[in-house]
Amino acid sequence: MSREKLLERIEGKREELTDLTCELVRIPTVNPPGDAYTDCARFLGTRLEKRGFEVGYHRAEGTPGDNDRYPRTNLVARLEGQASGPCVHFNGHLDVVMAGKGWTEDPFGAVVKEGRIYGRGTCDMKGGIAAAIIAMESLLEEGISFPGALEFSGTVDEETGGYGGVAYLAHQGFFSKPRVDHVIIPEPLNVDRICLGHRGAWWSQVETHGRIAHGSMPFLGDCAIRHILGDCAIRHMGAFTQLLEKRLYPELDKKQTKMPVVPEGAKRSTLNLQAVHGGEEESYDGMPSPCVPDSCRMVLDRRFLIEESLEEVKAEVHELLEELVRTRPGFRYSISDIMEFHPTMTESDAPVVKAVEDAIGSVLNTVPEKIISPGTYDQKHIARIGHLHDCIAYGPGILDLAHQPDEYVVIDDMVKSSQVMALATLKLLGLEV
Ligand SMILES: [Zn+2]
Repeated sequence: MSREKLLERIEGKREELTDLTCELVRIPTVNPPGDAYTDCARFLGTRLEKRGFEVGYHRAEGTPGDNDRYPRTNLVARLEGQASGPCVHFNGHLDVVMAGKGWTEDPFGAVVKEGRIYGRGTCDMKGGIAAAIIAMESLLEEGISFPGALEFSGTVDEETGGYGGVAYLAHQGFFSKPRVDHVIIPEPLNVDRICLGHRGAWWSQVETHGRIAHGSMPFLGDCAIRHILGDCAIRHMGAFTQLLEKRLYPELDKKQTKMPVVPEGAKRSTLNLQAVHGGEEESYDGMPSPCVPDSCRMVLDRRFLIEESLEEVKAEVHELLEELVRTRPGFRYSISDIMEFHPTMTESDAPVVKAVEDAIGSVLNTVPEKIISPGTYDQKHIARIGHLHDCIAYGPGILDLAHQPDEYVVIDDMVKSSQVMALATLKLLGLEV
């Protein structure tokens, strides 16, 4: 088999690649709640089974969101080679985020125009999944006899932490040696870049406590009567927010990482105050009643750097809250962790990095930039649960379009990335052409 013939074969599959992506987009695997996972897993499993892959469906029972209506169904497909050797694994998440507002195209219609496919999940990451599948199928059609194994997993719940997806499978040994050696996750990090890993994340919820009372008597701060009258939890939360502005944000801005994070702004530590709720329920659309709110909850999304420890990151917030307990009359709070993920970064000379780097050189005639993603993805579970570190994200989508209205993937990028994945697979299997 020649390299040219392989690349030509993939180029000739442009339409097939487009169709496969469109078919995937039309299965609305929206998460939450985790719709149509089984349909999507079976659609890909049936296709790979016809190519000789041994296919298994693994429902992550007992993980968040799993029930009979929304089963967390994961697909693992494996094709053994003719001799023993390394296993190259492609992992893609089947789930997509909700469409949201602002679309000019049908988010689940998969409209093809001007060399692009539009739809929720085209970029993140059904275009990448399709490119990986076409890469594997093209290698098989070229009649390669290969050592080791080819694997594909279509996993769920990446958008909500991956507990019922890659984390679940990793706990069962699906992402560890000797079963798997090299992993490529075709997340949308742009066709000419290699993503070595991601920053860490800590999500928490802070609740300030007050005392409900009549809204005409909100005597906050009057120590003598606070315990019998209202104490406004929202004002307490305001005091916390002010302290974050004054003290924590300037500190975060000073923290710069050596990790090659893109975009530039994400080279610093960041904190997003992602939700705040206090007082009456937002879903109630009648007239408000006059009450001093006794609770205010805020969700914090803190992204941290490889140079920071999770303990330090938590301590920064805990210390500010404790300071308010000491200095602000009546301040009471509770804090709970929602999710925490450590940063991860594959060595830039790891085998999978080198193989993809070479392949990008041949297909795109460029030296790829090696980057770190600002947000996390399933690599964390492969590294920390599977203890497998030869893993990267590389795929055709454009990072900035993920989760946006009118999300799209460029068909040309899908073809190119599929060629890159095929050449990299050959190299990782030890089959230089
Ligand atoms: Zn993604």
